Amino acid sequence: MRSLIPNMFSRSRRNLARWFTLSMGSILVSFATILYFLEAKEQLRAFDQELYSTTQMMAAGVEDGLYQEQQRISLEDVPILGGEALPFDNKIIYARWYTPKKQLLEFFGVTPSEQLNNQAGFQTIELNEAPKNSHEEKEGISTSVGQSKLLRQLTVPVFQDKQLIGYLEIAASLAPVEETLWTLRLFLIIGVPITLSIIGLTGWFLGGMAMQPIHESYEQLQRFTANASHELRTPLQAIRNHAQFGLLEPIDPDQQQNSLENIDQIAESMGMLISDLLFLARNEGQLKPEALELINLVNWLGALVEEYTHLAKAKNLEFTSVFPEQLVMLAINPDLMRQAVKNILSNAYRYTSSGGKVRLRVFIMSRWVVIEVQDSGIGIPEADLPHIFERFYRVDSVRSRHTGGFGLGLAIAQQIVQVHGGQIIAISRLGEGSTFQIKLPFTSKSSPSQAINTE
Ligand code: ADP
Repeated sequence: MRSLIPNMFSRSRRNLARWFTLSMGSILVSFATILYFLEAKEQLRAFDQELYSTTQMMAAGVEDGLYQEQQRISLEDVPILGGEALPFDNKIIYARWYTPKKQLLEFFGVTPSEQLNNQAGFQTIELNEAPKNSHEEKEGISTSVGQSKLLRQLTVPVFQDKQLIGYLEIAASLAPVEETLWTLRLFLIIGVPITLSIIGLTGWFLGGMAMQPIHESYEQLQRFTANASHELRTPLQAIRNHAQFGLLEPIDPDQQQNSLENIDQIAESMGMLISDLLFLARNEGQLKPEALELINLVNWLGALVEEYTHLAKAKNLEFTSVFPEQLVMLAINPDLMRQAVKNILSNAYRYTSSGGKVRLRVFIMSRWVVIEVQDSGIGIPEADLPHIFERFYRVDSVRSRHTGGFGLGLAIAQQIVQVHGGQIIAISRLGEGSTFQIKLPFTSKSSPSQAINTE
């Protein structure tokens, strides 16, 4: 079982990291894909724009007029098709001029069909062979068709004076767009897995952080269960011993009576332990406002003062109480708070030997009301002081067992104070006595007008 639990924690951590990586990874991949397609679209749009400008420039060079009383088209001044040098880049693979009747008139680059078959507009086409055109070589035009066979072709009708004078068709290699997109793909192919690994590591780290408090509370629960079972096992064993002794023959009625009384005592102490455990399990979190009652603190403590004055006489202790002059109204749960103050007062009585002093004092410190119990008892060693509020913690099991404590009294007191939004502090020096302070905040139900420093 023990080895299963750490496994369970690392499995949960792995699952958390996996789900985190998966969800973040899918967001990342979708984002990268969208980015890639948007960039591809933008690149193609810019490319098309350039191709369109080229057709416009070429179309502007076409001259349509009457030559020897015949309507003739002159392509002399058309870049690429005419004798004109290329005023722009050399990406153009081919250019063609068709008559209004879609018959081929002039071309540059790959030999076209005699008839214009294409629709006007842009087209992406694949060129199967690298062109071996002498005209092209003569012009010194380098084509990258050998590497990339993808071309972008634009066919436009050309008008002059609202009259169709022919069709211009040009195509350029898509290699530059492909190169840019390939660089982007390479960046994404390398970048996405690296980012995914970073996300995975972050997920693993976050999973660890998320599991930490669960792990801690699990360990606390395990310690608590182990301690509780240990505490219950010892008295159970004692009950069995007394019962077996009582069953022995021949039975002495006095011994039997003694055994039964012991069993009863042990069972009572077990009952107390169980109610303490239940109390700790049930009273967590913050108290709801309806569980609070506005009380006059000094009056309310009066009953406890009376009870502990009697006890002090029986234990030969000097018990004093010091309360502020002014009215202190405080919103608390009286039953729970009584339990907390009693636990601290009982400890003071328990750990102060005959002739010692115990003082109960109430004072106001800025926005806190402090209930302080001071004793001149045996004190608490410095090393134990940070642990005394832990469940089942006993400074010295011998002295605690002797005094009958389970090590739960302070844990309960602390829990009660915390559900009231307060704090509990212990100051102690071994052999010199201890001071416990319950600091309770003035809430809206309390009377803040009373909150003046009397220190
Ligand atoms: P217990 O029921 O065993 O007294 P508590 O939780 O009340 O358990 O206290 C925890 C430990 O703190 C005890 O074992 C005890 O040794 C020590 N302690 C608590 N109050 C005092 C005190 N007023 N003086 C000396 N030691 C104290």
